[in-house]
Amino acid sequence: MHYRGRFAPSPTGPLHAGSLVAALASWLDARAHGGTWLVRIEDVDTPRCVPGADQLILHQLAQCGLHPDEPPTWQSQRDSTYAQALETLQNQGWAYPCGCTRKAIDAWWEAQGVAHSRHMERPYPGTCRPEQGIAPQRTVSAWRLHVGRVQADLGLDTLTAWTDRRLGPQSQTVAQAVGDFVLRRADSLWAYQLAVVVDDGAQGITHVVRGQDLTDNTARQIVLQRALNLPTPVFLHTPLVLGPNGEKLSKQNGAAALDLDDPLATLNRAANSLGLSAQPAPLEHALQRWISEWLTLYRPHHSD
Ligand code: GLU
Repeated sequence: MHYRGRFAPSPTGPLHAGSLVAALASWLDARAHGGTWLVRIEDVDTPRCVPGADQLILHQLAQCGLHPDEPPTWQSQRDSTYAQALETLQNQGWAYPCGCTRKAIDAWWEAQGVAHSRHMERPYPGTCRPEQGIAPQRTVSAWRLHVGRVQADLGLDTLTAWTDRRLGPQSQTVAQAVGDFVLRRADSLWAYQLAVVVDDGAQGITHVVRGQDLTDNTARQIVLQRALNLPTPVFLHTPLVLGPNGEKLSKQNGAAALDLDDPLATLNRAANSLGLSAQPAPLEHALQRWISEWLTLYRPHHSD
């Protein structure tokens, strides 16, 4: 197996301290394995994308000495590939149209006596599933994956279990935790889950290294990989960088743009969150030393 990894930023703004950790970690892991490292611009959620942020991110990566081994790719150019994947799922009877608004889903749960909580995303209750026998009188909005049917048809356990290289054994009953999730959104944009799974498959990604905030998506992605007959990569979710208020750093809460006047100082901070030792200049030597240190901290991979 030839190792292929990727860094997959959404161009909603420049890199920040948190996304640099994921970038550095995925680059180090690829280098430590003698593998190939790709950069994929995840610009499917167009309303959230900031014009020019993609080029800025690529420039920032280059300033840090993190150069992809193949030309970067843009998800916005892969519409027909995602459409094909959705069609495959539709033909299997594994995707169905859904006209429910967020409000309708909330109302359904309230009718069951489940109060709304700001911290809990309530699973989709399956209102539009074909077997509910509801005539599709509403205009088709979103397309959802019929999780239960995929699992039953493929003889999969309803509990999706996997092992993270840093976090250890993980599991989720997707149907219960999130329900039938969206593949194509009501605004006809591709959902992150579909685009990421199709692209990881198409690009032959063997190892996914990304921020811990994405851990919860993994079980959904594994179910979708099974449905599309794609292999499941090995996962490593990196520690989150917290802001001064203890909250996860994100572009949304105004994470400061990276200071790349001194890329080594900035990389040293990212390396420190990964448990790597502080390194003096020059940048190239620091990166080399982190490559040798990397696999002593994060074991190569776990054998399933
Ligand atoms: N595009 C996602 C983000 O920036 C990352 C996707 C992934 O690594 O799977 O949060």
